[in-house]
Amino acid sequence: MDAERPADTIAAVATAPGRGGIGVVRVSGRELLGFAEALSGKRPQPRLATLAAFTDAAGEIIDQGILLYFPAPHSFTGEDVLELQGHGGPVVLQLLLSRCLEFGARLAEPGEFTRRAYLNDKLDLVQAEAVADLIEAATAQAARSALRSITGEFSRAVYALVDRLIELRMLVEATLDFPEEEIDVVRDTDAAQRLAMLRTDVAAIRARARQGSLLRDGLHVVLAGPPNVGKSSLLNRLAGEDRAIVTAIAGTTRDALRETIQIEGIPLHVVDTAGLRETEDELERLGIERSWREIGRADVVLQLVDAGAGVADPDLIIAERLPAGVPRILIYNKCDLAGLPAERRSDDGRVSLVLSAKTGDGIGLLHDELLRVAGWVGHGEDAILARRRHLEALAGAEDHLGRATAELSRLEFCAEELRLAQEALAEITGKFTADELLGEIFSRFCIGK
Ligand code: GDP
Repeated sequence: MDAERPADTIAAVATAPGRGGIGVVRVSGRELLGFAEALSGKRPQPRLATLAAFTDAAGEIIDQGILLYFPAPHSFTGEDVLELQGHGGPVVLQLLLSRCLEFGARLAEPGEFTRRAYLNDKLDLVQAEAVADLIEAATAQAARSALRSITGEFSRAVYALVDRLIELRMLVEATLDFPEEEIDVVRDTDAAQRLAMLRTDVAAIRARARQGSLLRDGLHVVLAGPPNVGKSSLLNRLAGEDRAIVTAIAGTTRDALRETIQIEGIPLHVVDTAGLRETEDELERLGIERSWREIGRADVVLQLVDAGAGVADPDLIIAERLPAGVPRILIYNKCDLAGLPAERRSDDGRVSLVLSAKTGDGIGLLHDELLRVAGWVGHGEDAILARRRHLEALAGAEDHLGRATAELSRLEFCAEELRLAQEALAEITGKFTADELLGEIFSRFCIGK
């Protein structure tokens, strides 16, 4: 166990780089009271602010600030934690940090504080990840959803599922262990029905997690079409400001311009690409190649055509090249010029929108359509801020539960599938998580977290 619970002391600047009113150096380790005294010349009281002068080796004052001491186990990491709150200048903070290193601390790796919190059972893996997600959250809804995970809502839901799964496994294993008994535990206890309910509930959590992953990662929307059809104008309209350069000269958007906007709290990363057309111009050709690469990565493509001209040959050529599996919305732009009303058309499941990037007519329809394509059902308050890892684990659990159902008449196989389903669920909270995965998860944190 001690190999997992490191004894060394780690330190890092915990506040963002740059200048600020205050800056914090965070230290975590075992028995840091002596360390605190050496650093400040004072003996801090647990969880009380102590005004202190932090001095260098020669006794010169580096900074005057507040010292906080959180004795184990009542701290973020579960170890002794010190917070040195100094003035928020990069040089001062580096000096404070160096002083901690002189006293034997070493520089913390990215995410190491949170990793220690996890190893000391202060947080489970979902909560630890949610700390990073809260800090990274692109919208207020995503932040709220991350906070729900930090406070354990997602973890509790997963633990409850695991508990029910364990019960079910016990019933199945009991029947397997005592085959000569007269009673068929599986039949008598309605195991099949329990299993069916469990599957329904895992599916429901997965649906909430899918909504959350939308809140977290958003959707990559790429605008495609020939030059001058109004792609930059549409990006500006969606972003609500003059971000892209709009001109009447074909070929002005040579580089991809991106803008993150939000609709109902979902971040939409909208990319405006160079107009797609045949060209002799080398620079423009490179821009067009880049456009196709962007289109290859899109979650949804908005293909723009001129409402007055309708779908013309160049548009058909573009449509032909769009990747097959990616949803696309055909946009008839400049409906003001064509004298057409803004509307949504649906033809054999193919949706097209008539709108005007210039007047803004029909933009609401586009918002709705983007949410529909994203699969957003509009229950932000239920969403669980999930990562791909969580979604995969939930999908795996659902899959194994499905197979367990199919194997109810062959109990050994059913038991094995239930065991695998439990493992998949437990991976979410970190009970069965391999060391490499932990390393991978925490290395994405920034230093000081
Ligand atoms: P891009 O090359 O596809 O990015 O096209 P731009 O956004 O640069 O637009 C080309 C020209 O069409 C500009 O003069 C825009 O003002 C104009 N334009 C774009 N959208 C509309 C629209 O909905 N209605 C009208 N009347 N003009 C538009």
